[in-house]
Amino acid sequence: MAAPTRLISRLTLVTGGGSGIGRAVCQRLASEGASVVVADINQESANETLSSLPDDFRGQVHTATVVDVSSKDSVKKLVTNIQTRYFQPPSVCVNTAGITQDDFLLSMEEEQFDRVIQVNLKGSFLVTQAVTQALVACGAPKGSIITVGSIVGKVGNLGQANYAASKAGVQGLTLTAAKELSRFGIRCNCVLPGFITTPMTDKVPEKVISKITTLVPLGRMGEPAEVADACAFLASDDSRYITGASIEVTGGDLLQFIFPADVVFIKG
Ligand code: NAP
Repeated sequence: MAAPTRLISRLTLVTGGGSGIGRAVCQRLASEGASVVVADINQESANETLSSLPDDFRGQVHTATVVDVSSKDSVKKLVTNIQTRYFQPPSVCVNTAGITQDDFLLSMEEEQFDRVIQVNLKGSFLVTQAVTQALVACGAPKGSIITVGSIVGKVGNLGQANYAASKAGVQGLTLTAAKELSRFGIRCNCVLPGFITTPMTDKVPEKVISKITTLVPLGRMGEPAEVADACAFLASDDSRYITGASIEVTGGDLLQFIFPADVVFIKG
């Protein structure tokens, strides 16, 4: 079956596009015809993603750029530069930039809590606000904002008080943005991945991964491309009547999980 071409002539921005899920999203959006701006805190990894992107459609132009999503100045500069280069703001934005800094609640430092909130939650706010402000200002008829939460934001996880709080916040931010922005034709939806094989989960000890895998109803970790599939659907007009939704990409209902005390999502 030929790949769908639902995103021809759409300009898309993917934060955290240099790695893992973000890279897979860039590749999927590009394969469906979109022009992709790969934005990451690491220029080198953004460039690597850029060099992997197909550009088989007329007018398809991809770029790679640096952004720190936790900095308002950096995000503003990103959106301004995109508008200068492409003469329009991105009509699709996928917020995948994210970090973990795991520790038990009893020993977590304030800095660990603050940094994870700054990147995951405030970063999603700053990028969503800057992109939608630009879309509203130019009178764009439609937009699709996709945030990446986590199933951990719904069910919690040992060692991830900061991360779970940030991801629950991302979901609340998305629900509110959906309500406020629907009158401008902008849809906002959240993807909640479960346990996906990426550099982020490479940090998790093998014995923990194998325990998690036995708890997943579909019996395996997810692949970044499987999260990208959901993002491409939400980016496209196939989801035109969907806003304020959260789509779980988890391999099954992780709410059933009862994590034993030794299944800890932290290093070591
Ligand atoms: P990843 O491979 O570590 O990719 C995250 C990317 O974001 C990296 O390239 C990272 O750069 C970049 N980044 C970090 N801080 C940034 C900042 N301040 N500004 C811009 N970019 C920044 O992780 P992933 O697993 O693909 O995760 C992608 C998203 O999915 C994250 O939001 C994560 O929380 C979420 N998620 C992942 C899983 C999973 O199982 N993998 C599950 C649920 C949700 P550096 O590498 O240089 O830090």
